[in-house]
Amino acid sequence: MMSEHGQREEKAGMQPLGDWRRSHTCGQLTLADNGREVCLMGWVQYRRDHGGLIFVDLRDRHGLTQAVFSPDIAPEAHAGAHVIRSEFVLALRGRVRPRPEGMANPGMPTGDVEVVVLDWKLLNTAKTPPFQIEDRIEAGENLRLQWRYIDLRRPRMAANLALRSRMALAVRQELADQGFLEIETPILTKSTPEGARDFLVPSRLNHGDFYALPQSPQLFKQLLMIAGLDRYFQIARCFRDEDLRADRQPEFTQIDIEMSFADENQVMDMAEALMRRIFADVLGVALPRSFPRLTWEEAMLRYGLDKPDTRFGLELVDITGAVRQSGFKVFAAAPQVKALRVPGGESLSRKEIDDLTEFVKIYGAQGLAWIKIRENEWQSPIAKFLSDEEKTAITRLAGLVPGDIVFFQAGEPAMVNASLGNLRARLGVQLGLIPENSWNFLWVTDFPLYEYDGEAKRFVACHHPFTAPSAASLECMATDPAAAKARAYDLILNGNEVGGGSIRIHTAAIQRRMFAALGFSEAAAEEEFGFFMQALEYGAPPHGGIAFGLDRLAMLLCGAASIRDVIAFPKTQKATDLLSGAPAPVAAGQLRELGLRLRETARDEDMGASD
Ligand code: ASP
Repeated sequence: MMSEHGQREEKAGMQPLGDWRRSHTCGQLTLADNGREVCLMGWVQYRRDHGGLIFVDLRDRHGLTQAVFSPDIAPEAHAGAHVIRSEFVLALRGRVRPRPEGMANPGMPTGDVEVVVLDWKLLNTAKTPPFQIEDRIEAGENLRLQWRYIDLRRPRMAANLALRSRMALAVRQELADQGFLEIETPILTKSTPEGARDFLVPSRLNHGDFYALPQSPQLFKQLLMIAGLDRYFQIARCFRDEDLRADRQPEFTQIDIEMSFADENQVMDMAEALMRRIFADVLGVALPRSFPRLTWEEAMLRYGLDKPDTRFGLELVDITGAVRQSGFKVFAAAPQVKALRVPGGESLSRKEIDDLTEFVKIYGAQGLAWIKIRENEWQSPIAKFLSDEEKTAITRLAGLVPGDIVFFQAGEPAMVNASLGNLRARLGVQLGLIPENSWNFLWVTDFPLYEYDGEAKRFVACHHPFTAPSAASLECMATDPAAAKARAYDLILNGNEVGGGSIRIHTAAIQRRMFAALGFSEAAAEEEFGFFMQALEYGAPPHGGIAFGLDRLAMLLCGAASIRDVIAFPKTQKATDLLSGAPAPVAAGQLRELGLRLRETARDEDMGASD
């Protein structure tokens, strides 16, 4: 039995493309083409019957063109046009003419003209799409992902993918100009330690063994430097099996770069030139010759975050010293106390302050102390605990003036910085402090070499274990890990981390010292990274590199709200692909070939209980 759709296809009288070829896109024709015979192909956006005339807006990824079927000019073409419906695929031959007086559409690049159809072909019919193909219509995201090929027909989505493609081209052109080679590295590989969980692929030919999908091409790009390839880049897919936050994807794309015989300054110069090229080619925006730099320490001190948005002020102030003897015990006893002065914030309502208090709890704060500064009065639940001396010191340190509100956070520096830093970022948006169309790049440098992992109860690499320690930290790597600094740098754009990299360890001795400091036994280091340690012993040049998040950069350049809007086929928060249905069960035979057997759910639970 033929389906209803099939019957409709048959009835509609579809025709083959034959020798028809497009002469123009649907976004191209203007008054300059008046009188020209053209051939357009695309999808029907709208069809309107207006008395004798039938109008069709034909759409492709370049735009819309109005076509007119007229019974006077081409009776045969007009007679057949009644079958046309939304999303049917048409080929039109016709003549360009100006739209009649008063009918021009200045909002549309092709809005001054229309094409009078002389002949046309129905290339395909279409079912009614699950949502309308228009920028304005916001279908739910799950529906959009399930019907992604329909969603991508929307002009904004097509424009996002086109911008992303121009970015990739600018990257290739700039890096080729700078003497970089584009080299691919394996997808089926050994685990690389970027600090996330690996995706594993079972080996059919070696039962019980697994490949890991690369979290990044880190070790391979370093091996390419040891191989003498000198300057490498790759627009590389990376895989990290993490719980997904709003702007993360389990597979994402990096512009991955490595260069030999280079120090931090050369990597940063290369990266700045790359950003300038992307912004010039893609947006026509001229970026400055060099980007400001902040050490990690200063970024944390002034902004509380290692990716500060420097498009507005509201800097944090450390007042720990001023409240050491405070009658307010929460301040006196805290390892660190910081203040965030908000000019004009005196007008915040109790409700608004309560909302901000709830907000900082996400970052581990118990509450949020505040003082409103009025002429001759500090209005606050805590003001009575503060001595005049303390008030004078805080006023001086934070630069308080009447009309301000000042927020405080007291406790461990990590919590103090996270809560006030994120509060600052939120207030920047809430109070409208962020100028439009500004692109603030910033380097954050001199990161700590390690960070303490409270769960694992040990130090882990802050960047990754191949990051070189600063010269001054070589000695204290093992003895005072908390103080050791890395030759690592992040590139921040408007408060987003868009890139990160480092100068690498290039001698086996220091790499060994690094693994030891991270708590790897010699045998464990050998087992995991033996091949790499060996390579370091065969003439590794000094080298360093960086990787940029292509998805995030594209998102920022498009002004999109989510990285999913710049990825053709993204996954949901639960790492599923709603279009293809991945991940999905596989046939028992496939598992058998791989030497795998699934555990029964019930048995799983038993084992979970006794694990
Ligand atoms: N491999 C690092 C990352 O993916 C970047 C780098 O160090 O070049 O974060």
